[in-house]
Amino acid sequence: MGVNIEKVFGENVFDDAVMKVRLPKSDFETVKKLMHEGGEITEDLADVVAQAMKEWALEKGATHYTHVFQPYVISVGAEKHDSFASVPENGKIENTFTGEELLRGEPDASSFPSGGLRETCRARGYTAWDITSPVYIKEDTLCIPTAFCSYTGESLDTKTPLLKAMHAVSKQGVRLMRLFGNEETNRIYSYVGPEQEYFLVDREKYLKRPDLIYSGRTLFGAKPPKGQEMDDQYFGSIPPRVKAFMEELNTKLWKLGITAKTQHCEVAPGQFEIAPIFSISNVALDNNLLVMDLLKKTAKAHGMICLLHEKPFDGMNGSGKHNNWSLTTDDGINLFKPGKEPENNKLFQLVLACTMAAVDTHAVLLRLAASNTGNDHRLGANEAPPAIISMYLGDQVGDVVRQIIENGKAESSISSGEIDFGIKKLPKLEKDPTDRNRTSPFAFTGNRFEFRMVASSNTIGEVNTVLNAMMAEQFEKAVAALEGAEDFDKALEEYIAKLMREHARIVFNGNGYSEEWPIEAEKRGLPNCKSIVDAIPALLDETTIEMYGKFGILSKEELEARKEILFEQYAGVRNIEALTMVDMANKMLIPTAMKYTKKLADTVLTVKEAGVDATVQTEILSEVSEKLTEMKKAVRELEEITEKAAAIEDSQACAVAYKDEVMPAMAALRKPADELEVIMPKEEWPMPTYGDLVFEI
Ligand code: ADP
Ligand code: MG
Repeated sequence: MGVNIEKVFGENVFDDAVMKVRLPKSDFETVKKLMHEGGEITEDLADVVAQAMKEWALEKGATHYTHVFQPYVISVGAEKHDSFASVPENGKIENTFTGEELLRGEPDASSFPSGGLRETCRARGYTAWDITSPVYIKEDTLCIPTAFCSYTGESLDTKTPLLKAMHAVSKQGVRLMRLFGNEETNRIYSYVGPEQEYFLVDREKYLKRPDLIYSGRTLFGAKPPKGQEMDDQYFGSIPPRVKAFMEELNTKLWKLGITAKTQHCEVAPGQFEIAPIFSISNVALDNNLLVMDLLKKTAKAHGMICLLHEKPFDGMNGSGKHNNWSLTTDDGINLFKPGKEPENNKLFQLVLACTMAAVDTHAVLLRLAASNTGNDHRLGANEAPPAIISMYLGDQVGDVVRQIIENGKAESSISSGEIDFGIKKLPKLEKDPTDRNRTSPFAFTGNRFEFRMVASSNTIGEVNTVLNAMMAEQFEKAVAALEGAEDFDKALEEYIAKLMREHARIVFNGNGYSEEWPIEAEKRGLPNCKSIVDAIPALLDETTIEMYGKFGILSKEELEARKEILFEQYAGVRNIEALTMVDMANKMLIPTAMKYTKKLADTVLTVKEAGVDATVQTEILSEVSEKLTEMKKAVRELEEITEKAAAIEDSQACAVAYKDEVMPAMAALRKPADELEVIMPKEEWPMPTYGDLVFEI
């Protein structure tokens, strides 16, 4: 029996309904306003709220509280739990929780990557309550979402810059609305609905694969005879064990007020997707971290392991996170909604022109925000969107843009029409104004943009920081250009056409997976960063520094630090992978091959002794022996090359060495190992194969 969502939804969230009962009326109104709009809460009021939270939490069985924060680049929420216990007075302990404890925390930040921003001796980090994201109870702990910064005020997480970017786009967006004579809008909300892909594998099998344990992806493994080519997985029926897991996960998420809505089997065998209903970006960020956390924990409870890595299996589809993003005013106008007559909707046209300019200007920064080491195996590898950023607009909006570019304005629009199944009993469906172009990294989907490049294990913080900041920048420019124009309508029309013409190259409606596209993109001058390593320097591009500086989102020093952290992260991940391969080769694969050659040699002798021809046995023996020799040589080389790369001091040069030298050496070791797997008997192979891992859950 499934759980009734209506009954459990938000059960573990300190939400409006709980506050209404537990706070004095006037305090409730003030806190509610702050929660929806942000702002400073007084210490006195914080005390009242903390008291109510504590009582509510204790009634629900909580014993501890924690500030949840998310150190930059580490895609899990960090928590440091404190119990509610007070200092004993006259031998008596009480449960306490003060406003001060609610508002501020001081975790030791010295072990998180700092990119040289802090010396270890001054590594204090501070967490501050993000009042706009709900407080909740998880595993007997009252969890308080926070922003995380250093003693000197630098952002150490992805939450703080996101909040700043959301503020910037709201402020500039309101100015834009005023231009159009709108006096009602007071803020612009940026919404996100992240679709999360993941793999599930059996836990017992996982534990036999050091590569999965240490690096989250398989570093060896021959392709099974059947992969995803039959397309029989996609939207297939969900296996019972997975169904049970999903039910438990959904219930947990619903209790946390997370609207887990869609779930289905994905393209690759063993791959699935979960999508919540969209919410305000910072809440979506916190919720997505919780989703990732609970995916892992719940899978374990069902004897499975959830792999969030972007590319757990070579030759099969990887996982991504589609970031559905929109901007909507507090009086309900979705800025990305073309309406019935996009040719006459000047606000939409201006916002679209701004988006084209923004994406074109910050293409590499966007690509970087969507990247991590794991995503290098997807982007541009003919499955995920290519590494080139372009925008897909669909027939209707694409045609409006074409008219504006050609004639300075649009006069008509193609109607979307209806889909007619040709059967009387079936309803006619109104078509979306956009068809789905799955090959585009940045696709317009009717009332939002779907950014499809994002890495499955990344937070959505950075991506949405870039998206909102770049829109704030364009809105500000538009306001500066149009404010005080004598003939507003004419100036507006010209400005829209100018932006669209200048940035027309970013629009691409064709097949992003085709061989022609990179060639065409190069002609257009669009950047094509194959690896995250090539994209990292974009953090210090003039365009980036100017945009982030203007709105106080990230300073040059903070960007420098982030650049360092990303290079170090890349080298660190590849180093673990290389060492894991060496370890597996030495401890598992080479001994296996040696044992098998002995067995074969014995067989050859016995067969010959029996006076029978042993040609086949001898052939297999020499084949296995050849692979063994090749493997041994490759291990030695990989070890040497990795050691050299690790010794490079400059972080960028080090990352480049891992990409250009260590990676090929890893591939050189994998090749003979995978070939060996194919020719060896199954029972001799020391670990579960691809087939075992993905087809049997
Ligand atoms: P698909 O797989 O077809 O792309 P899904 O239904 O799986 O679509 O996911 C779409 C996501 O987009 C959901 O999280 C949904 O809530 C979100 N979404 C819908 N409308 C908006 C919007 N206006 N702004 C942001 N996200 C949206
Ligand atoms: Mg989807």
